[in-house]
Amino acid sequence: MADVHHFINGERREGRSGRFSDIFDPNTGQVQRRAALASTAEVGEAIASAKAALPVWSAMNPQRRARVMFAFKRLVEENMDELAEMLSSEHGKVIADSKGDVQRGLDVVEFACGIPHLLKGEYTEGAGPGIDVYSMRQPLGVTAGITPFNFPAMIPCWMFAVSIACGNTFVLKPSEKDPSVPLRLCELMMEAGAPAGVLNMVNGDKEAVDAILTHPDIKAVSFVGSSDIAHYVYKTGTEHGKRIQAMGGAKNHGIILPDADMDQVVKDYLGSAFGSAGERCMALPVAVPVGTDTADEFVARMVDEAQKLRVGVSTDMDAHYGPVVTSAHREKIASYIQMGVDEGAELKLDGRDFSLQGHEEGFFIGPTIFDHVKPNMRSYQEEIFGPVLQVVRAETLEEAAALPSDHQYGNGVALFTRNGRAAREFAQQVNVGMVGINVPIPVPVSYHTFGGWKRSAFGDVNQHGPEGVRFWTKIKTVTQRWPEGEIDDQAFVIPTMG
Ligand code: NAD
Repeated sequence: MADVHHFINGERREGRSGRFSDIFDPNTGQVQRRAALASTAEVGEAIASAKAALPVWSAMNPQRRARVMFAFKRLVEENMDELAEMLSSEHGKVIADSKGDVQRGLDVVEFACGIPHLLKGEYTEGAGPGIDVYSMRQPLGVTAGITPFNFPAMIPCWMFAVSIACGNTFVLKPSEKDPSVPLRLCELMMEAGAPAGVLNMVNGDKEAVDAILTHPDIKAVSFVGSSDIAHYVYKTGTEHGKRIQAMGGAKNHGIILPDADMDQVVKDYLGSAFGSAGERCMALPVAVPVGTDTADEFVARMVDEAQKLRVGVSTDMDAHYGPVVTSAHREKIASYIQMGVDEGAELKLDGRDFSLQGHEEGFFIGPTIFDHVKPNMRSYQEEIFGPVLQVVRAETLEEAAALPSDHQYGNGVALFTRNGRAAREFAQQVNVGMVGINVPIPVPVSYHTFGGWKRSAFGDVNQHGPEGVRFWTKIKTVTQRWPEGEIDDQAFVIPTMG
């Protein structure tokens, strides 16, 4: 199949750097195509195209920009099957989950359709004698997004849908592992009526990222990926005077109190620990059952149920999850499992030997469960990002709640209980950005906002929802009066309203 190139000024643009990155079919382990990696000069061309499109797009009234988002939403819906198949073939997540990836992106597009309302500013009549004060939100200019492999539809939409609706133009640098869906989204945006240059895309690696972070015409960058790179992006981008939000890795805990509904907990954990092969930043790879009885029951039932999960090719409609994204990632997960064994955790279920008949070269890994994991183990402290569940036992809720609060990551956390007061206190006190109460994957809906704490996010403003509009705009506040006759000039004294 054809290699994936760039999308600049409304059309596909052949890469010229001569550098490529392999795109695998994770089901077969074979290279299916390549992504052209952009040079600094090619990134510069995408930025120049976005800059040229800016005056017309930013001056267009928000209702007309919203109409483009409405048309885009319809086109994505019409192309849902094709997009989900494409996504699944490069990422490895099953088709139903791929549709969920696209749909969660569409949810943000729907939010962006409300941009005329969202951009309304504030107004105070009579803030002083004959003085009115009003504020407005204005676009930043040329903006950029750098996205990870694990949600190739949803995360680009988090960024470009809100930014473009706000009146900015955009350069997207998606993951080089699964860039076909982002490319298709760019084409659909043009079909929806966005002028050429409003949304551009470059494939690339560090060179392209650095070109974005240092280019004087880029005003803001949103990044989602692993924490070390998120920190690098935050540091380099802010050093170059840009507004940056950089979401990083995660290690989410679920705390199970003795009064929780264990049937629900087991069902929720199967999906949230192993769904999408654990390649979700809001997965639940750590379980903290409180009390020995709770832990014994949870571990026994999880081991029993996890063995029944169907791991299959991503087009298998009955499969619970498919392969992981690359063989390198599979090896990394396997090495963390070995680390857990070496550190003395109890391996109750080992997915390393899993092999799918007829797809022996595919990047599959079976469900894996560790019991008696301790907080001082490196395999607990670091993100594994695979179908590996680690059980850390605790005696009290206080002991359990300290684990996510003290962990270096603070993306999401869940509490399973029937005790409302305990849940309320937990939600208030836990040092984590997104909390689920009897909800295993508490990804907020699009009109709320997404963002973790600690090493899960660098910067201050979250993705989508009103926070997203804040990130992609700057506020201007106007204080005006229309004086008549003699003016009592107090230029030497700071004016007060007293
Ligand atoms: P990654 O950090 O490897 O890549 C993310 C992006 O950075 C890609 O576009 C990639 O091309 C680019 N990149 C890679 N190496 C780079 C370098 N040396 N310099 C500059 N840019 C570089 O992440 P990934 O493996 O694609 O995605 C998985 C990670 O993303 C996990 O850590 C996961 O937790 C995290 N994630 C976080 C969230 C969140 O909202 N917090 C959401 C999804 C995924």
